[in-house]
Amino acid sequence: MEIQYFSFLKHLIRFNRQVYLDHNATTPVSDRVRKAMEQVLKRQYGNPSSFYEIGRKSAGMVEQAREQVAQTIHADPSEVIFTSCASESNNAAIKSAAAHFYPQKKKIIATPIEHPSVANTLAYLQTQGVTVEYCQLDENGRVLLSDLEQRIDGDTFLVCCILANNETGVIQDIQAVTRIAKKHGALVLADCVQALGKIPIDVHTWDVDYATFSAHKLYGPKGIGALYIKQGSPFTPFLHGGHQEGGLRAGTESLHNIVGFGAACKEVDKLLADSERIRGMKRSLIQRFKQIKPDCVINSPEAEAECLPNTLSITFPGVENSGLMGMLDYRGIAVSAGSACSTGEDTPSHVLKAIGLSDQAARETIRISLGHTTTAGDIRYMTQVVQEYIEGRVSFVNMLAPAQLNETILFDEQTFILDVRPPDMRKNVKGLPNAHEVNPLHVERYLKQLPRDKQILVYCPGGGLSVMISYYLKAKGFKRITNLRGGLDAWRKRRNDLYEKYAGQNVTVLEPDN
Ligand code: PLP
Repeated sequence: MEIQYFSFLKHLIRFNRQVYLDHNATTPVSDRVRKAMEQVLKRQYGNPSSFYEIGRKSAGMVEQAREQVAQTIHADPSEVIFTSCASESNNAAIKSAAAHFYPQKKKIIATPIEHPSVANTLAYLQTQGVTVEYCQLDENGRVLLSDLEQRIDGDTFLVCCILANNETGVIQDIQAVTRIAKKHGALVLADCVQALGKIPIDVHTWDVDYATFSAHKLYGPKGIGALYIKQGSPFTPFLHGGHQEGGLRAGTESLHNIVGFGAACKEVDKLLADSERIRGMKRSLIQRFKQIKPDCVINSPEAEAECLPNTLSITFPGVENSGLMGMLDYRGIAVSAGSACSTGEDTPSHVLKAIGLSDQAARETIRISLGHTTTAGDIRYMTQVVQEYIEGRVSFVNMLAPAQLNETILFDEQTFILDVRPPDMRKNVKGLPNAHEVNPLHVERYLKQLPRDKQILVYCPGGGLSVMISYYLKAKGFKRITNLRGGLDAWRKRRNDLYEKYAGQNVTVLEPDN
C-alpha cells in the first residue's frame, strides 16, 4: 500500500534511483526461479501425496528439487527435508536433539553470534532445564577453538555453529569445530543460511549432523527452507501429521516454493563464479569509506577467506545509524543496521556486542550486503551519498527509536505530531495521541499550517513513508524534523502499554490549504 505513496513522493521530490544493498536480509527472485515457479502455479496443482498421475508428477518434482538441493550441499537426497523456512529448520534440529538426549545429557554449546532462530530456541530450552554455554570468539568473531575444547564435555550433546554470520559475514572453521565436537560425542548444527550461494558447501566433508538453508537468501522464494540431517543422526519430527517428507515433516508440500528452491540451487555455480566480482566491489567500498571517514572501523574480518565476499559491517564513529539509514532510504538505498529480524528494535545487535563493540559503536554501525545485481555504479552512488551525509552537506532528519517515544514526548507542547498515514489505514488502526492528520498525497497543501518553531514528529505505519515526507519537509525549510523509526507498528510492539492507554486521543484532522 505504501508503495503508491512512495512513488508519488519520489515524483514530488524528483528522485527515483533504487539501490538494493541488503542481500543478507533477502534477495530478489531470479528470472529462472520465477519462471519455474510460474509453471507450477499455472499447471501443476496435484498433491504430491495423491496416487494418480498429476499427483505423481508433483511428487516427482519434489524429488527432483530435493536432488538439486542435495547436490548443491554435497548430501544424499535422503538426508534433505523441506521446511517452511530456515527458522523452522533450526528449531526442528535443536529441539529434536534436545528431545533425544535430555535429560541424560544436559548441555548445548553455541557461538554468541547465532541467528535469533537458534539463539531464541536455545533461550527457550534453558527454561526447560537445558544448560546453554556460549563459547568465546577472537577479535574477528571466529570461535576460539581452545575455549570450545575447554567447555565441551561428556554432558554436551550439541554444538551450534553458524557457518557464516549474517551481520558481519565472518566464516567459521566448521571442520575444526566438528572435529572437537565429535571427540566428545556431541552433534553439530551448522546454520548455513548465509553461506549457500556465496561459498561452497560440503556437509559430508565437514561431517556436521544438521545443516540449515533458506531459499530466499539465494534468489529463490520466501517461505521455503531445507534441513540436512546426516544419515544416522537422531531426528524427532517437529510437525506431526501426514507422512510427507519421509514421515519427518508433516504438511502438504509447498510445491511451487520447493521447485523454486531447486531452481535457485541450479544457479549456485553461477553465483559462486560471480563472487570475485562482488568481492572486488566490497574492496572498493572499503577503500572509499576509509577516504571519506578515516576513523571508520571495519567489523567484518579483513582476511578474505574468513569473510563472505558480499558482506561489510562498518562503524562510522559519531554517526548514528538511524539517521544515516533514513537518509540512505530517502535516496533510494537499502542497507540495514543489523539483521532484518532486529528492525524496529533499539537494543544494539547481540552480534556486534559479542565481537566487542560498545552500545554506542553498535548504534553507529551499518551492514551493507551486495548481490549479483549490484554494479560498480551502485557503489559509487552509495559512497557519494554517505560522503555528502557525513560531511554535513545535506541537512538530515532525526530518528526516534520506538522505545524512546514516551509520555513526555507525546504530551510535549513543543512537539507537533504529524500523522502521515494513508487515510484508509487510519480507519482500522488508532494512531498517536495529540496527532495532526494530513493526507500524505498532498503534504504540500498543509505547509502553512505546520509550525516552524516546534519539533515536528512525523510518523506513518512502517516508518518508510514518513522518512520521505520528513526529508520533503526539510527541503521546505522546516528545521526540527524527527521521524519515528519503524513507525506506529514498531511503537505498538515496544510500547503497547502507552498505545492501549492513549491511542486515538485528541487527534486533529487538518484541512488542506486550497
Ligand atoms: N539463519 C541465518 C543466518 C539467517 O540469516 C536467517 C535469515 O535472516 C535465518 C537463519 C532464518 O531464515 P528464514 O528467514 O528462512 O527463517
